Amino acid sequence: MGVKSVAILGSTGSIGVSTLDVIARHPDRFRVHSLTAYHNTDRLFEQCRQFSPDVVVMVDADAALDLERKLSGVGLNTITVLSGASALEQVASAAEVDYVMAAIVGAAGLLSSLAAARAGKRVLLANKEALVMSGDLFIRTISENGATLLPIDSEHNAVFQCLSSDTDANVALTGVRRILLTGSGGPFRNLPLDKLGAVTPDQACAHPVWSMGRKISVDSATMMNKGLEIIEACWLFSVSPDQVEVVLHPQSVIHSMVDYVDGSVLAQLGNPDMRTPIAHALAWPERIDSGVDALDLPSIAHMDFSKPSFERFPCLGHAYAAIRAGGNAPTVLNASNEVAVDAFLQGRLKFTGIADTVSASLEHIELGASDSVEMILESDHRTRKFARRFIADRLIQQEQA
Ligand code: NAD
Ligand code: MG
Repeated sequence: MGVKSVAILGSTGSIGVSTLDVIARHPDRFRVHSLTAYHNTDRLFEQCRQFSPDVVVMVDADAALDLERKLSGVGLNTITVLSGASALEQVASAAEVDYVMAAIVGAAGLLSSLAAARAGKRVLLANKEALVMSGDLFIRTISENGATLLPIDSEHNAVFQCLSSDTDANVALTGVRRILLTGSGGPFRNLPLDKLGAVTPDQACAHPVWSMGRKISVDSATMMNKGLEIIEACWLFSVSPDQVEVVLHPQSVIHSMVDYVDGSVLAQLGNPDMRTPIAHALAWPERIDSGVDALDLPSIAHMDFSKPSFERFPCLGHAYAAIRAGGNAPTVLNASNEVAVDAFLQGRLKFTGIADTVSASLEHIELGASDSVEMILESDHRTRKFARRFIADRLIQQEQA
C-alpha cells in the first residue's frame, strides 16, 4: 500500500497530538507531510524536531517568524514555514498529501476542510463545526471529487464501525431504525439547576472522562457538543433528525450504537481515548495498534443509561430545531455558540447565557438557503455580529442592575 503522507491541521491541539502519537507508532505506514497551528510556537517546534515535516503553517505571522528562527537555530532549514489562513488550504490540497487530519477547532477549519475534500483526499474529520456549517455542500464536495470522508468524532466513528461494509466508505444504511449517540453528560450532569449560572470556565473544562481542548469541553458541559453531533450524524449517515437519539452514558465506554429494524443493536466499545478512532480512520479498512489499553470490562463492572433533560441541556433542543429548520440555521447555531463559548471562557458571559445567546440568534437572524461557501460565511459573520451585541447588551444590563 505504500507509505501515506499525512497533513495534520491543528497539530498542536488535543486531537493533533493524539494523531502524532498514533503515527509515531507506525513509521512504516505514515509520514508527516505538514503540521499546522495557530500560534503555539514551542509545541510546533518540538513536533518539527520529532517528525521533520516538509511544510509547517503558523497562522499568526509573528509566531511564524519566531518558529523559522528557532528551526534554523537547530539546522532544520529544509522545513518550509508558511503563515496566514490561506496556507492551510494550500497544505490541505497539496499534491503530495494523501490523508488530511482536519483537527482545527471551530469555523476556522471550514475552508481547509473543504479544500481537502475538493482535492479528493482521505479526509479524517474531527472538525465537526465545518460539517455542521456546510452540511450538504461538504458532502457534495466529497462525493464530486472522489474524496473519502472518515469520522474521527468517537460517536460517529463508532456508528461508522457499526454500519460499514469493510471496503466502502459509503456506509450501508439498510434496515437502520435509529442512531443512538451516547454522551457522558459532562461535569454538570447532576448539579442542581439553580447552581448552573455560577459555574466557572475551569469547572466547565474539567470533563469527568475525556481530556480535550477548552472549546469542546465547554460544549460538552452544555451538551451543545452532542447537539453538533446530532447534526453531524444527519449529514454523515443521511438520516433524519428523528432517527438520531441521545442516550446519557456517564462511563463513556459505549461510544455509540445503531438500532436495526429487526431489534438488533450494534455498539462499539472501548476505553475513552481518541487514539482509537484516529487509528481506525488512518488504517481503515485495516486495523493497527493505537497504543490504547485493552478494555477491562470487569473493572468497569456496570454501565448506566438515561435520557438527557432538555431543561438542563437546552442546547440539545436548539440543535434539533436548527437541523429541522435546515438552510443556514445550523450555521447560525454554530456561530452563536462559538461567540458565546468564547465570552464564557473570558468571564464575560454566564454559563447559562450560552444557550440564551444561541436561542436569541436562531430567533433573530433571518433563516434561509445556504448552499455556497459565500452564503455560509455571510450567515456566520452576520450571526457573530448579532451574538456579540447580544452579549454586550447583557453585560451592560448586569452592570446597571
Ligand atoms: P484544541 O483547542 O486542543 O486544538 C485546536 C487546534 O486548532 C490547535 O492546533 C490550534 O492551533 C488550531 N487552531 C485554533 N484556532 C485556529 C485558527 N483560527 N486557525 C488555524 N488553526 C487554529 O482542540 P481539540 O480538542 O483538538 O479539537 C479539535 C477539533 O476536534 C474540534 O472541532 C473538536 O470539536 C473536535 N473533536 C475533538 C475531540 C477531543 O477529544 N479533543 C473529540 C472529538 C472531536
Ligand atoms: Mg464526540
